[in-house]
Amino acid sequence: MTKLRLAIVGAGPAGIYAADILLKHERAFDVSIDLFEQLPAPYGLVRYGVAPDHPRIKGIITALREVLDRGDIRIFGNVSFGRDITLDDLKKHYNAVIFSTGAIRDADLDIPGIDLPGSYGAADFVSWYDGHPDVPREWPLDSSSVAVIGNGNVALDAARMLAKHADDLLPTEIPANVYDILKASPVTDVHVFGRRGPTQVKFSPLELRELGELRDVDMIVHDEDFEYDDAARAAIASNKQIFVIDKVFTKWREEGVEGASRRLHLHFYAKPLEVVAGPDGRVASFRYERTEPDGAGGVRGTGEIRSVDIGQIYRAVGYFGSPLDGIPFDERRGVIPNHEGQVLAEDNEIMPGVYATGWIKRGPVGLIGHTKSDAMETVQHLVNDQASWWAPESPSEESVVALLEERGVEFTDLDGWHALDQHEMALGAPHERARIKVVPRDEMVRISRG
Ligand SMILES: Cc1cc2nc3c(=O)[nH]c(=O)nc-3n(C[C@H](O)[C@H](O)[C@H](O)COP(=O)(O)OP(=O)(O)OC[C@H]3O[C@@H](n4cnc5c(N)ncnc54)[C@H](O)[C@@H]3O)c2cc1C
Repeated sequence: MTKLRLAIVGAGPAGIYAADILLKHERAFDVSIDLFEQLPAPYGLVRYGVAPDHPRIKGIITALREVLDRGDIRIFGNVSFGRDITLDDLKKHYNAVIFSTGAIRDADLDIPGIDLPGSYGAADFVSWYDGHPDVPREWPLDSSSVAVIGNGNVALDAARMLAKHADDLLPTEIPANVYDILKASPVTDVHVFGRRGPTQVKFSPLELRELGELRDVDMIVHDEDFEYDDAARAAIASNKQIFVIDKVFTKWREEGVEGASRRLHLHFYAKPLEVVAGPDGRVASFRYERTEPDGAGGVRGTGEIRSVDIGQIYRAVGYFGSPLDGIPFDERRGVIPNHEGQVLAEDNEIMPGVYATGWIKRGPVGLIGHTKSDAMETVQHLVNDQASWWAPESPSEESVVALLEERGVEFTDLDGWHALDQHEMALGAPHERARIKVVPRDEMVRISRG
């Protein structure tokens, strides 16, 4: 029977689902899958993006883990495509590759002052509080008033983590240094800015409602943002999500504030103009233009300029994929150009043997569940394309292990992940926490490799 030797690059949900779907797919060939992951731990943004105080979503790791624990997928952790292994290597050892490398960077926000000291990308903040090994372990929370730009779930995650009292995060898996820094945080006021109106937001009702449940945090919304036009009323009437979101806002407007020690302010119809520096050259204020509904479901500027004093600003205007060596990349969208997961070369022709799935295929929108339907589409093409797979010169399972060893790559495997997983849980146990994450990469590798 023919055998498909498949490499998958990226062990986030998209890569793991693709492996699982292929193994369960009806097919006339055997399959052997190697999953390469640049980090010593799998699960991508479920481990390093989803907020630590969302244990239900983090729990998706249990399902992903069950797939890996079946033992029919080999995992090579701490192996970075482009550095430790290349496209030419993969062509030598495999019949095809699926890239599922996701997105980890912040999209740009092109306004003056956005690069000032005190201005950050939300993705970096997320990587810090979720204990990503490749970001600095310090986070300079040094201001009482901060701004978050954006109206999606990541903006709400960042705002919540900035406003929440550190002790309320203690039951979660946050690393010890994250707790210490949040515990000493001087932040009292978090201002979230959206360019459009309250019925045009991208966040989900659950994420919004959760803000109102934060202990000792008042939600501040402004009546001027709730003078709905016909388009807003139609959105509330026709869209269940918007209906619930409006209910949450209405409740907050009716309840008013309770004198909490921290406040989370939501500002709508606010188009970012400039981040302004103080005399010390650091972020001192944020200027924005008030917008208004344009009658067609969008907004237009009113010419009214406003400003709020802040000491830090976080842009949460989206994530962006990173290019991979030798693989086409769409610089505008931050994705690998593809047709339903079949990667397209510059001439728009399909590149034989090269596939993409997840956020690097579709762009950084959508929930974890969406990466499953993505994977189904990509895997279907891979199965149908058997005639155009690569013909590797060294397809044996041992040959790739030999290659990595020869290059001195300190790769980790499934047993190594189990060891790290156990270690993190043991660190948490005395404190009645599910786990405490190990952050430094060398320590993760040392524990994994035993
Ligand atoms: C802050 C944040 C919060 C979120 N919260 C939720 C939520 O509450 N609920 C929900 O359903 N969804 C949430 N999401 C969305 C969810 O995380 C994504 O839908 C999902 O993770 C995308 O999966 P992916 O596998 O495509 O990418 P990723 O999860 O990013 O996985 C990609 C993997 O590829 C690896 N990789 C990258 N480059 C290389 C390379 N060169 N070599 C080897 N490996 C590489 C990365 O290390 C990573 O492990 C959130 C996203 C973010 C950013």
